[in-house]
Amino acid sequence: MIAEQRCTNCIRTLATPRELAQGICADCEKSTANFNDRDWRALESEFADRLLSYRDRGGRYDCLVPLSGGKDSTYVLYYLTRVQKARGYAYSYSNFFQREEADTNIRKAVRAAATPLFVVDLFTPAEWQRAYRALMSTWGHPCLFCYHLRTPLIYNVCLEHKIPLVVYGADHTQAELLPMFSSNWQLGVDERFAIHQAHAATLAKDLETSFQGEPELLEKLYSRAPYFKSFVAGEIAPADLPAFVSLGQYHNWRLAGEDRFIRLLKDFCDYVPVGHTKENTNCSLERLRVYVEGRRGDSYPVQVLSRKIREREIDRDSALQTLETYQVAGDELDRTIQEFCDKVEIAPHTLEQYLAKHAGAS
Ligand SMILES: [Zn+2]
Repeated sequence: MIAEQRCTNCIRTLATPRELAQGICADCEKSTANFNDRDWRALESEFADRLLSYRDRGGRYDCLVPLSGGKDSTYVLYYLTRVQKARGYAYSYSNFFQREEADTNIRKAVRAAATPLFVVDLFTPAEWQRAYRALMSTWGHPCLFCYHLRTPLIYNVCLEHKIPLVVYGADHTQAELLPMFSSNWQLGVDERFAIHQAHAATLAKDLETSFQGEPELLEKLYSRAPYFKSFVAGEIAPADLPAFVSLGQYHNWRLAGEDRFIRLLKDFCDYVPVGHTKENTNCSLERLRVYVEGRRGDSYPVQVLSRKIREREIDRDSALQTLETYQVAGDELDRTIQEFCDKVEIAPHTLEQYLAKHAGAS
């Protein structure tokens, strides 16, 4: 299953004539930064200093911690509440495909941290079915919901409860690859506001596109997120918007070894490892996502793994092994697709049609 033309340093697929001639991907060619040379101690104290400036700003909570039930976000809740003693507010959001172990971890973690938990359960099961069908027919991708729905809801809860800071749990590779996990707390209020505003406008437009055949669902979303609606309408002051930071860019790297994470989290909240590989699998749609993205070129796990190789966190052989567990078209993938099709009430061959129709789209 592993493609032939991969970078000889990492595992990215080679595409350009230059890459093919050199046998090495553009990222590896230009990558000069050595992960191990970063001044992590300085980053650690920078994190603590900045966090301090978000304390006691008038609201009841210093920060929002979105929890997925995976190791990184659970660690963030632990670190903020136990180590930094911040007043955290936990947040979780159901996407209809969350694994049971992940929900259990969330419940245990908020109990251990003694934080309130705000759970967004946006739709009824029947509405989720309609929503995923709309999503698949519009975008040909099952996972955009989390991108499209989670962020408006996070804006909403922060504006409603006057929470000045959102701290994401992402590992450092996710944090630096995915714009949604980018830290912006180092920017000034106006610069941050401009970024947020553009982001919110894009989200609003995408939501409208997703739900063009399901206006009721869009209305329901906006009725549950009135502050996000006000934000899109230009009615929110720049200073009221939360800042975002990903702890992956500061701390999680230290616990990059799975064992260290799990040991620490077991002591904290009797954490249960989730999923079937060492990668992020809190949601049972993960394999379907990899499958869909695999048809459009390198999937997100490939990007993450290649980054980890460059930063000498793992070697190329174990990355290839991990990739094979993702890419194997075995029972588990079939089960995931079947589960998706059953829940959403579409036939697997219809899924194939969606994928073919949207192949090449981003
Ligand atoms: Zn490479």
